[in-house]
Amino acid sequence: MSAHTRKTRRLLLIDDDRQQQHLMQGLVKNFRSGAFDLDGAASYDEGLKKLLSGKYAVCLLDFRLDAKDGLALMREARIAGSETPVIILTADDSEEVDLAAMEAGAVDYLVKAALNPRLLERSIRYALKLGETLTQLRQLAQRDELTRLLNRREFKRILEEEWDRSIRFQRPFALVMADIDHFKKINDTHGHQAGDEVLRHVASLLAGQVRTVDRVARYGGEEFALIMIETDTKGATENIKRLGVLLAETPCIIESKNLTLEVTLSAGVATSLTDATSATDLVAAADKALYAAKRGGRNRIVQADGSVVPFR
Ligand code: GH3
Ligand code: MG
Ligand code: MG
Repeated sequence: MSAHTRKTRRLLLIDDDRQQQHLMQGLVKNFRSGAFDLDGAASYDEGLKKLLSGKYAVCLLDFRLDAKDGLALMREARIAGSETPVIILTADDSEEVDLAAMEAGAVDYLVKAALNPRLLERSIRYALKLGETLTQLRQLAQRDELTRLLNRREFKRILEEEWDRSIRFQRPFALVMADIDHFKKINDTHGHQAGDEVLRHVASLLAGQVRTVDRVARYGGEEFALIMIETDTKGATENIKRLGVLLAETPCIIESKNLTLEVTLSAGVATSLTDATSATDLVAAADKALYAAKRGGRNRIVQADGSVVPFR
């Protein structure tokens, strides 16, 4: 049994009609596959907030919500990053609504008067499956296979997005490029597999330590890129310093080879608004600082203005 089927899956019903809420509770109770919890939201704002919590496996959404538009809520949730599959509920069976729901990204469209437990259960089952498939596809498209970090393409997409946001709101974000020191030697001495272990070790340490709003990517072979939002050079330097110190205290243990490998990083830090005039420029500035850290002797941080900060 997968983790998904074991736990009670939560459904969200966004509908301003109390009677409909009650009716749906009854339908969900009669599901043969059982184990669904139906939570309700009676307004646009409450519904959006709950949907964005990410706690729900599937959302059932009323097409007409107060004076507002259910499809608008769905679009707003998508823009804010929601990946929960949405099934649209409507009072009237119209091809127009059907097409509009599909165009807006709904996975299905159900007419309220025609609802019965089997139909609803089936629609939810398909929505769940589709949601899982989409999550897997996203993983494949956005993540690096070895480390599970964001891949370079996804990093670039997010970087452009953060750049635009930074310029529009005049809020800084920092980019840190970090590269493992003398990594080739690990491969050469202990083999490529040990090298892979070290990459995973560093990746999980980096990913486990940043704030959820920050992003960590594998930029290339043994080079990582960290986007730290609402952070300037000073803050980013403190953050990467903390990570470097933790890495020094946490050697990579490869049990199968009875090895304990100590790893150090070199890092370059650059900040939007002050160090670059475009996203590409920002990568170049951080890369240049990283190169200076390498040239200066490794195991250190260099800022875009050339300042050097040791890890200890
Ligand atoms: P420096 O301190 O200057 O960064 O030296 P370095 O040895 O870390 O850097 P260099 O660029 O000379 O070598 C990086 C090596 O990383 C070369 C490449 O074979 C290896 N590498 C790249 N991707 C992978 C990978 O996925 N797994 C393993 N095991 N090695 C990789
Ligand atoms: Mg290296
Ligand atoms: Mg390198």
